Amino acid sequence: MNKPKRGSLQAKVRAVLEDGNWHCRSHEYKRIPSGQLAGGGGIQGLQRGTSARPGLKIESKTDLCEHCGRKTRWDRWTGEHQTANAPASIPKALAEKVLAHFGNVDSIEQRVRPVHELVIDHRFPMIRWGATETKLSGEMSEADIEQKFQLLKFDGSGNHNLLKSRACEVCFKTGQRGTPFGIRFFYEGNDRWPGHTPASGTQAEKGCIGCGWYDFAKWREALNLKLAAPSAATLP
Ligand SMILES: [Zn+2]
Ligand SMILES: [Zn+2]
Repeated sequence: MNKPKRGSLQAKVRAVLEDGNWHCRSHEYKRIPSGQLAGGGGIQGLQRGTSARPGLKIESKTDLCEHCGRKTRWDRWTGEHQTANAPASIPKALAEKVLAHFGNVDSIEQRVRPVHELVIDHRFPMIRWGATETKLSGEMSEADIEQKFQLLKFDGSGNHNLLKSRACEVCFKTGQRGTPFGIRFFYEGNDRWPGHTPASGTQAEKGCIGCGWYDFAKWREALNLKLAAPSAATLP
């Protein structure tokens, strides 16, 4: 497991928290200014982790410190690491394979992210699965992983998986297909759910193809191609 750089602020903070006991911010961190202790260089940074190093699960509380003689902030490492957000149906070995397949890059903002900021998204939304039970194992091929999943971000500033779920619910109820970020473009079909496609079950997946929420990377590529092509209106 990668650790923060030796001698860095994070390494000093981590050394204090390593034992899993509660530690008072006001007196236990020698020579670390309290302002720096909480921030991205300190406790918050350890929680967040990096693409190379998973974040730590750290609990915090306000409690009386007998040494300081007043109420102070305390932190404790639970001994666990932050992990990617994956539906319970995805076994851990497969989750790791999916993350590696996409290089920890979310499909919408295209940024390499620490694993706990990523959601493993089933392209085909669960709301349309019906009675079909998908069997998933770590044995899945790279091609199957590409076809079945995408990574979406879930960080302090937003949850793309939640946006998608809401869009899929509307589509399921009304037949109005999703328009990510208000962009009305479909790489196949149009804004209406195709009438001849069943609403749920394995065959329903065909109705999702063309929607940006189903395959954001393909959707962006198709949109860029359309923008690059000379439009019919400008041809002589
Ligand atoms: Zn200690
Ligand atoms: Zn104290």
